Amino acid sequence: MANDYYGTLGVRRDAGPDEIKKAYRRLARELHPDVNPDPETQEKFKEITQAYEVLSDPKKREMYDLGADPFAPGGGAGAGAGGFGAGFPFSDIMDAFFGTASARGPRSRARRGRNATLRVELDLTETAFGTTRELSIDTAVVCDTCHGEGSAPGSHPETCDMCQGRGEVQQVQRSFLGQVMTSRPCPQCGGFGSMIRNPCPECSGDGRVRTRRTVKVKIPAGVENGIHIQLAGEGEVGPGGGPPGDLFLEIVEKPHPIFEREGDDLHCTVGIPMTAAALGTSVTVETLDGAEEIDIKPGTQSGEVIRLYGRGVRHLNESGRGDLHIHVNVETPTKLDEEQEALLRNLAALRGEERPPGKFAPGQRGVFSRLRDVFNQH
Ligand SMILES: [Zn+2]
Ligand SMILES: [Zn+2]
Repeated sequence: MANDYYGTLGVRRDAGPDEIKKAYRRLARELHPDVNPDPETQEKFKEITQAYEVLSDPKKREMYDLGADPFAPGGGAGAGAGGFGAGFPFSDIMDAFFGTASARGPRSRARRGRNATLRVELDLTETAFGTTRELSIDTAVVCDTCHGEGSAPGSHPETCDMCQGRGEVQQVQRSFLGQVMTSRPCPQCGGFGSMIRNPCPECSGDGRVRTRRTVKVKIPAGVENGIHIQLAGEGEVGPGGGPPGDLFLEIVEKPHPIFEREGDDLHCTVGIPMTAAALGTSVTVETLDGAEEIDIKPGTQSGEVIRLYGRGVRHLNESGRGDLHIHVNVETPTKLDEEQEALLRNLAALRGEERPPGKFAPGQRGVFSRLRDVFNQH
């Protein structure tokens, strides 16, 4: 009796090759002996694998459709006498199973280099306006002696005699599927297909050497603490003359003695004597752009904020700048001499403020009523 291969894989008789492959892969994932080692599952895995071998091969499929089953017990066209015999395309099945065809032939010695990260400390003026830095980095570059090939001058990698340059060796193994051919990377050349018999004395066959290199980098305005700037291709070159990885600059912004940064805005605090706050004056303050004179209006309160538009950090990758917020702190005089104390008492008397009532500031009342609201909700 012939096997029902279409039924085994759960596909229609007119299923295309992709559909068959997909169905097999789905089932193989479920039934693979590594996943499920009980004998019944193994038997099922063998069945779907048999079905796949027939249906994935156009010639065998045609024969099967005409009524000849290469695996039918005691008969068939004889093409697969002995069932899973020598020559069973095990690697095809494995390709199907793992979804990616294993790279055929020797693998390249060249591999991409690693990425590197470098911390760059900048002060606020540098992050605010951008800067250019020359950075010295320890990295790997292509070996000048062998140009990345890894062989001593005058010699070249030689074809591996164990695998004849194929990079893999084949093996016949007995398994639950019967006899199967497996291939594995050549143990002599490590899968490269070639051997470096005379390693380059400069790089010991790696194709690259370590060195200290200087890179000039432009750091854009507006970067901030923790940002990474990617410099494509400025990382280490790979072994065997492989392409370089990328270099990442990690920005570390040093704290500024006056300004605190919040996004692209800056904040600072300026102390004003009580008298100046009451009478009004102008004071000179530091900004990133130099000293600037600002007006203190008569009657300025502690905590008021004077905003200087466009005196903050430049926006990253767009035009414009943040603002500078100057927080005013009204300073109450402490060491009063006799005359000053008399003057202030006089002023207090004139204003009827010798025993002022305690007043809640509107802002504080707001905080308390919000708190009350929170408590009342529960
Ligand atoms: Zn070299
Ligand atoms: Zn080899």
